[in-house]
Amino acid sequence: MKLGALLVVSMSVFAQRNGNEDAVKTMGSIPIKDWTPDSSLVLEEHHPAKARYKAIDAHSHVYRRTAAEVADWVRLMDETGVETTVILSGATGEAFDRSVDLYLKPYPGRFQLYCGLETKDFDAADYPQRAVAELERCYRKGARGVGELSEKGSGYGRGSQGAGKRLHPDDARLGPFWKKCAELKLPVNIHMADHPSAWRPADNHQERSPEYQRYNQYGKDVPSYAEVLAIRDRLIDSQPKTTFVACHFSNQGNDLAALSKVLDRFPNLHLDMSARHYEMGRQPRAAAKFLTRYRDRVLWGTDLTPDRKMYLSWWRLLETADEYMPGPNWWRLYGLELPDAVLEQLYRGNARRVLNWEPVQ
Ligand SMILES: [Zn+2]
Repeated sequence: MKLGALLVVSMSVFAQRNGNEDAVKTMGSIPIKDWTPDSSLVLEEHHPAKARYKAIDAHSHVYRRTAAEVADWVRLMDETGVETTVILSGATGEAFDRSVDLYLKPYPGRFQLYCGLETKDFDAADYPQRAVAELERCYRKGARGVGELSEKGSGYGRGSQGAGKRLHPDDARLGPFWKKCAELKLPVNIHMADHPSAWRPADNHQERSPEYQRYNQYGKDVPSYAEVLAIRDRLIDSQPKTTFVACHFSNQGNDLAALSKVLDRFPNLHLDMSARHYEMGRQPRAAAKFLTRYRDRVLWGTDLTPDRKMYLSWWRLLETADEYMPGPNWWRLYGLELPDAVLEQLYRGNARRVLNWEPVQ
């Protein structure tokens, strides 16, 4: 008999003896999405109000769209100890220019702006030159990086075509674009694959919570998780002069030993930890060891809608030894209590060194 079955049998025997069969049934019929147990655990809590070192958020987006909203954001950054936020606009053309006016012009130094990749008509013969020309235009307007460029299997560009007609990052048509990024010293933030659980069915073995299933790719016409990571390796290998920042621990935060090998292989690769608090917090000792070893390769970033609680939860996770903290998935998170020297590198040192701080004209 399996352990699970044994437990059910012994629980029902227990319930019969105590007359609690109804409670067993009631709780057993609650949908997993509604399961939010109250914890009786009593622990000391620590909530640092500001980052220990003035932090640079290397992964954010156009979360605020009016001047008043951006002003609020800057105030929130001041209150929580965030010096600069990198806006990965992913945009080209007019959409990019609007972000220049909204973020860069009024707040020089408080925001850094990334542009996207032009993907219109990528089958046309002049595509490689057009992509480069738009990159140069955005650079002159103030772009200091490129991203977030997402390759979850269906390639770059919208209205994605079927296999064989897609624009994957290792496509020869993008060679001139990556080379121009290197020439202009523009780091590229790449999102490769996704959390491995996105390639598993949304069934009773699924690792992440229901909200994450909007990213589920199981059964879709896309390459496997391993195949997308192989595209990443070919890309980085073929463009050694371009600086890449693979976001979300390159979606390998679940296997830090494998991720170490990737970092050891590619000196032009860095990582951002955005939106993977739940990955670090469930393995606090392994994650602290990894971040200490690769303290010059990882950038702090959020990828989350800015609010006070969100920023403070990062300081609590990285700076304190608090335990059993709530997270966005089934499991609880544990503080990493990182040493000062490591924290400083993650919060700002690496961003200062790796990103492009050339002033906007
Ligand atoms: Zn993002």
